[in-house]
Amino acid sequence: MSAACIFCKIIKGDIPSFKLFESDKVFAFLDIQPLSRGHALVIPKYHGAKLTDIPDEDLQEILPVAKKIAQVTGAEDFNILQNNGRIAHQVVDHVHFHMIPKPNQTEGLGIEWPAQDTDMDKLKALFEELKSKI
Ligand code: AMP
Ligand code: ZN
Repeated sequence: MSAACIFCKIIKGDIPSFKLFESDKVFAFLDIQPLSRGHALVIPKYHGAKLTDIPDEDLQEILPVAKKIAQVTGAEDFNILQNNGRIAHQVVDHVHFHMIPKPNQTEGLGIEWPAQDTDMDKLKALFEELKSKI
């Protein structure tokens, strides 16, 4: 827990939320500035700013809960989004997974996808480097 963290305060109940789910390790609630109907956040109770700060055991329930919320919203199309760092659009420094229904072209998440040209030699070198560390 971090005393200054808005999502830790939501978990504690010091700030109200529309809570959808709670267990020992996970908390889920409606996003207060939704991109579409049903936009929800699923968060580990463990406080950490980035995904890499969270122990594996605190992440295990996250996707099943996001999946359940997607199902109960009735969304046929949706995005799961998890931002890490300011330049990657993270505003709240407590790890959170967005479940964002995509009902049409204008509502929900809009994505820029600046695909780069493939250089197979560079890709293979990167692959070898990462694989050796994993
Ligand atoms: P991100 O840009 O990934 O850090 O997203 C932060 C999200 O938290 C935004 O979608 C906000 O609308 C949402 N948010 C911020 N404060 C609250 C709050 N008190 N209750 C619910 N959602 C919130
Ligand atoms: Zn926190």
